[in-house]
Amino acid sequence: MAIDQIDCVFCKIIEGELPAKLVHEDDQVIAFKDIHPKAEVHLLLVPRTHIASLEQLEIKHERLVSHLLLLLPDLAHQQGLQDGFRTIINTGRGGGQEVDHLHIHLLGGSQLPGF
Ligand code: C5P
Repeated sequence: MAIDQIDCVFCKIIEGELPAKLVHEDDQVIAFKDIHPKAEVHLLLVPRTHIASLEQLEIKHERLVSHLLLLLPDLAHQQGLQDGFRTIINTGRGGGQEVDHLHIHLLGGSQLPGF
């Protein structure tokens, strides 16, 4: 395991070493409820492969990226979000990223503030 993965909280969730409320898992990704929800529904969609952020994505991840994006509407509908949802990817400290394992926030179910 690479050094940056050893202390990765999302790798630990993927390995079952830390608890999380899973709502979806398959061979490429997992999705679970954020422990500090910022909306009525707040999920994190996370690739099983440790990729630190959008900055580390490569062309070889093309299929994974498609899978992540295509899954979002299904996850939203599963959570009862029929009227729309918001997705956020924080990248780097300047972008507000706290966990250095690529993840997509999926939020909805309450009136979200505009940008
Ligand atoms: O995009 P950013 O890195 O800031 O988001 C990390 C998110 O991971 C936070 O919303 C935090 O609440 C969530 N988290 C979690 N379970 C953990 C650790 C962090 O849901 N064990």
